[in-house]
Amino acid sequence: MQPKVCVVGAGIAGAGAAHAIGESADVTVFETDTVGGRMISGHRNGCVYDYGANYVDPPDGRVEERIRSVAGEELVETTGDVWIFDGDGEIEEGRPNQGPKLTGRNGIDRIVRAFLDASGATIREHTHVEHLARTPDGWRVSAGKEEVEYDALVVTPPTWDLFADADWEADVRETLVAARQRQSYRTIDSVALHYPFEVDVPYYGLVNTDKEHAVGWLSRESSKPGHVPDGEEILIVQLSPAWSAGRPDATPEQAADSAAEHAAALLGDDRLADPDWWDHEHFTHALPGDGINPALFEYALGHDLGLAGDWLAGTGRTHAALETGLDAGRSLAGRL
Ligand SMILES: Cc1cc2nc3c(=O)[nH]c(=O)nc-3n(C[C@H](O)[C@H](O)[C@H](O)COP(=O)(O)OP(=O)(O)OC[C@H]3O[C@@H](n4cnc5c(N)ncnc54)[C@H](O)[C@@H]3O)c2cc1C
Repeated sequence: MQPKVCVVGAGIAGAGAAHAIGESADVTVFETDTVGGRMISGHRNGCVYDYGANYVDPPDGRVEERIRSVAGEELVETTGDVWIFDGDGEIEEGRPNQGPKLTGRNGIDRIVRAFLDASGATIREHTHVEHLARTPDGWRVSAGKEEVEYDALVVTPPTWDLFADADWEADVRETLVAARQRQSYRTIDSVALHYPFEVDVPYYGLVNTDKEHAVGWLSRESSKPGHVPDGEEILIVQLSPAWSAGRPDATPEQAADSAAEHAAALLGDDRLADPDWWDHEHFTHALPGDGINPALFEYALGHDLGLAGDWLAGTGRTHAALETGLDAGRSLAGRL
């Protein structure tokens, strides 16, 4: 009989792990919400918009080729460059020769879906993993109404509660929980603003470089082939971690109003203060500030446990999270 592996989380790290394990095991991926995690896309009135991660920027040709080989049919390249602005809203050209910025024609979440589809794993969306228990031969996983034994486990979420609550008598559990509790994460309110007209500016995105502005990132979904019909625009406005963490009780309406007002001021166009519809997501765990001791990855493997996620990489980049998933999957597959 094939060994059984459980993957917690269907973000890009979990998808990478499932893909690397492939046919070496019978893999089930549990996801509280829907496939994609922070690579989340919205679909409304004929528009597609990426309001978590905005694009994937592979750091080198090897990583780019890996992504293209799995998700090639889904991929489109964003046109235009990223420019910069400061706390006073002064906009300047960004650095030249910026590399490719990839997303899916039907949303960035399709890249995650492509890795999962190619893996052959069983995907259980809307099924939260509630509890983990170490057994003599592997792990018992409680998810939904089920309790199932697995030979190995991959854990990807950016929170530590699964380890804190696990029935697992091992020093490495406490070390892991302590290391993760020390980790910092930036919080971001992200808003998609729709307009029934085009926004004519010479860049795709704007990033605030001095961290002094209430907006950290602003970009145009019309720069992505297939995302916005001609004659319309969707702006993605990510409010800064200072704004977002400083207003934990802000309603989605307040975040959307603030995003629209800042977009109007930054781009010098009053019409932008009044979108005809909007969408919003509050990411408490948006971007990790640091990683954890990589030795924990090796210790965990000795307990039939793969660790993956941007929290392990210590950087909030999709390609880095993917690499951690692929590493965890390969390492576990070699031990099954
Ligand atoms: C606003 C924003 C903008 C960003 N912009 C970019 C960008 O432009 N480019 C870039 O490269 N990166 C960007 N990032 C970072 C990037 O999105 C992340 O680094 C990456 O997506 C993390 O992937 P992951 O698989 O590690 O975690 P996640 O995507 O968070 O996946 C973890 C999954 O686990 C699920 N889960 C949690 N607990 C459980 C449980 N108990 N049971 C089952 N499932 C569970 C969650 O629902 C989630 O789907 C951005 C992030 C944010 C929030």
